[in-house]
Amino acid sequence: MSIRKNKVLIVGGAGFIGSNFIKYLLNNGDYEIVIYDNLSTGKLENIQNFIDENKIIFNKVDITKLSVIKKIRKQRFDYIYNFACPASPKFYLMNPIATWKASVFGINNLLESVIGTKTKLFHSSTSEVYGDPLIPNQIETYWGNVNPIGVRACYDEGKRAAESLIYDYIRLYNVDVRVARIFNTYGPNMAENDGRVVSNFIIQALNNEDITIYGDGKQTRSFCYVDDTIQCIYKLMMNSEKVNSPVNIGNPNEMDITTVAEYIRNVLKSNSKIVNYKAMSDDPKIRRPDITKAKQLFNWEPQIPFCDGIAKTIDYFKKKVDTYE
Ligand code: UDP
Repeated sequence: MSIRKNKVLIVGGAGFIGSNFIKYLLNNGDYEIVIYDNLSTGKLENIQNFIDENKIIFNKVDITKLSVIKKIRKQRFDYIYNFACPASPKFYLMNPIATWKASVFGINNLLESVIGTKTKLFHSSTSEVYGDPLIPNQIETYWGNVNPIGVRACYDEGKRAAESLIYDYIRLYNVDVRVARIFNTYGPNMAENDGRVVSNFIIQALNNEDITIYGDGKQTRSFCYVDDTIQCIYKLMMNSEKVNSPVNIGNPNEMDITTVAEYIRNVLKSNSKIVNYKAMSDDPKIRRPDITKAKQLFNWEPQIPFCDGIAKTIDYFKKKVDTYE
């Protein structure tokens, strides 16, 4: 008699974190894995080898359509991971309405599809729910400081609305949903054109082009290597007890953007100039996760230092950038 494999749906599986997560699952278990992605920002090339080797099933699906509810319920998944949403400011500023809908309609449909089932649902929320924070270390109990009508609101408020919907479904329907607030993450499979700081600076430095700092470069971020992020996502989902409130996932190693630019330029021995441009609207001035909760619940903390993570990320982009000599 064959034992049924656990069935996993990964929504947004062709994107940066989703595709790295698939790799992790394939290396750490025996699952039947289905991917839904509308390929708006995700790329098939991130998962093409898994498709070719019949390790996963790919479906081009728009998660915002109500028809997905029936489709998902029919397949009786054990686990659903939701990574579907443009997550880089460049992409969500270009497509604000689609971004808000991906967050809110997307999670609405996933929640509807798990009501009354045993399916566990993971949702990726974001440090952007804290907006431009007024406290140095953002702990999960902090309510944030968000401009509700600004250009970033499509993402920030979209993710906040998704969280509010999730906790209402938990209260009303007792569904099992695990929410991670993911802070800045970097590593292989970042899209080279998505405009994020780490990918931009590496590509600019590799090409000896100007390194573009938006604003004075004193704004800070805390960067977590994708393998660390993924490990915590997995632990959150596999935790035997329900986790009925959001958990920060990130690396508290905070640095200002000028330091990031100088570090990447030095490592690559690049001739790039560092040039300051106009700051982005509503750009958070500081960001640093308080990860006490993840440490206490899952005995997790990031293992990969910035220098090692950047070296791996540079290797990835070197292969992508044709012009590098
Ligand atoms: N940034 C920058 N130059 C770039 C890309 C980003 O100075 O080429 C800045 C951006 O304004 C922000 C920080 O780097 O202050 C992180 O930006 P990113 O787009 O990576 O993500 P965010 O944390 O803002 O979501």
